[in-house]
Order: sequence, then structure tokens, then C-alpha cells
Amino acid sequence: MSPPPHPTFEQWFRRFLLRACIGIAFLLAMGLVLLKNGYIGIGWAFAIAFEVSVVWVVAYMVYRLYHVACPVCGKTMKTAKDVRLNSFVARCSGCATSWNLGVEKGS
Ligand SMILES: [Zn+2]
Repeated sequence: MSPPPHPTFEQWFRRFLLRACIGIAFLLAMGLVLLKNGYIGIGWAFAIAFEVSVVWVVAYMVYRLYHVACPVCGKTMKTAKDVRLNSFVARCSGCATSWNLGVEKGS
């Protein structure tokens, strides 16, 4: 039996990823345009902001993926990759429920 989908996580994850990608693409584009036009100082500031953002976004997504709150009891669940479902599954030790987070492996 496969676990039911988590009610909010996948939606949040996809929305966050989309916004993060737009923000990161903006920083990269600004940095490249400014550097190309000779604005070295501000151009590098955008380039560094881009690199910091990438690291921050990846770290935050991994953190959120492994710290999902249980929709039933609110407890932080344990997340594990489910090879069979090709997605991440969170298990709650408080109320013994499992939730399919729906985030495909490698995405
Ligand atoms: Zn629970």
C-alpha cells in the first residue's frame, strides 16, 4: 500500500522551487549584464549574491525535505527515499502515518 500524498508539501515545494529559480536567474542575468557593461563592482556583487542564493536555496530545500511537519499531529517526521515509488516518503513516529511527499528523486 502506498502512502497518501502529503496535503501541502509538494505544492509548497514546487512553488518555492519556481520562485527560487526566477530569483536566481534574475541575479545571474543582472550580474552578467553588469559585468559585460563594465560595472565590475556591482556586477560581482550580483554574481556573489547568485552563488550564495544557489547554496542557500539547495540547503533550505534539503532542510525542509527532512523536516516536514506531520499534517495530523504536527510532529516533525522522518523522511526517506522510497525507491519503489521513486519519491520521498515521510513517516510520523507520533501517529504512525506515512505521507508521500511527491518530490521525485533527483529533481
Ligand atoms: Zn503525526
